[in-house]
Amino acid sequence: MLNLRTLDSLPQDLSGKVVVVRTDLNVGVQNGEIDSNFRIKKAIPTIKELTAKHARVVVISHLGRPEGKYEDEYTLMPIRFELGKLLDMHIKFAHLQACKNSITFMENGEVLLLENVRFYPGETSKDEAERVAFVAELGELADYYVNDAFGSYRAHASTYELAKAVANPMAGRLMVDEVNKLGILRENPEKPYVAVIGGVKMDTKVPILHSLVKIADRILIGGAMAYTFLAAQGIGVGASKVETDRFEDVNAILAEAKAAGCEILLPVDHLVGTEFKSDTEVIKIETQQIPEGLIGLDIGERTMASYLEAIKSAKTLMWNGPMGVFEWENFARGTEAIGEYIGLTAAKEAFKVAGGGDTISAMEHLRINFKNFNHVSTGGGAMLDFLAGENFKVLKPLMV
Ligand code: AMP
Repeated sequence: MLNLRTLDSLPQDLSGKVVVVRTDLNVGVQNGEIDSNFRIKKAIPTIKELTAKHARVVVISHLGRPEGKYEDEYTLMPIRFELGKLLDMHIKFAHLQACKNSITFMENGEVLLLENVRFYPGETSKDEAERVAFVAELGELADYYVNDAFGSYRAHASTYELAKAVANPMAGRLMVDEVNKLGILRENPEKPYVAVIGGVKMDTKVPILHSLVKIADRILIGGAMAYTFLAAQGIGVGASKVETDRFEDVNAILAEAKAAGCEILLPVDHLVGTEFKSDTEVIKIETQQIPEGLIGLDIGERTMASYLEAIKSAKTLMWNGPMGVFEWENFARGTEAIGEYIGLTAAKEAFKVAGGGDTISAMEHLRINFKNFNHVSTGGGAMLDFLAGENFKVLKPLMV
């Protein structure tokens, strides 16, 4: 386990002190409306703890990928209002240029949100002098620095260099929780450990699969990824989405799994369509092979039943990625079933973790109860990379 400096190291009373908290409030925003407030909710405990200690809390986050300049699309204004609702208080808001001045007008226990940190070129600049100058500007604001942005695990100015520049940087409550809970999966999961991996982006899942085969007892694969696994073994998958350039990776993963005694389960039947459209005709395919021209869009019933058996026997469960195109009602059943099996049907005492951007959207969309999981990670790429064994650079300065 990583030994992180935490909020416990702060004095009881922070009156008059400014605490800069780097959070990950990077949520989807469409026409000024937030898709999901899950990440914002998860940032609340640290902020509340600091305001309860009468600190002046300056919250930093990025949103999207603006390239060092203001873009309407990426303003944190919609997040400001959601944060205000969740904290039940007025949230002050400032651009960096005005931040220092705005802080002087803050009362103890108030919160100020800095505009999108990626509007300033220093945040992600490759030019060291530019980054150093930006870090100095941010550092000047802070009496204390907290990193609570597990999802923003790339080493940028506000996530890494600022932590190195200040005295005693610490991890927020969310960061500690993520590292501890995901650490259990990485270091000592109770056996049998069953991982369910789905979705479409092979490039993000290949590294974790290489690690998982060494520690998990079974890996259940669904989503578009499953077709690349089947096709790599010469099984026909019709017109399903296949990444042929990943065949070598798939075969290596299968060989490593065999050597490590990890069983990889693949779909044995499917729900397919004739077109990649939400209203395509739904056809059941009872065989593992999919006929020419048809597109695999969800796992079939026999697959669900065999995945359920594996899930029921598990003491540790990790789920990342949907089993099918869950956004389309006709192809959501596999994902919904997996969520229900893990949340409700699996052993009560099993340790259950879910995570990843699309998994959280699927859980919200299909009303899968987060409370039935021991942990739902705010990290997408962060969760996968952490579980793949990557030691995040951003955590180093936070260690005692
Ligand atoms: P990922 O971000 O890799 O977890 O992938 C999530 C996306 O995978 C979702 O938007 C799903 O619609 C998509 N997906 C799942 N199954 C399939 C499939 N059989 N064919 C195409 N896309 C899929």
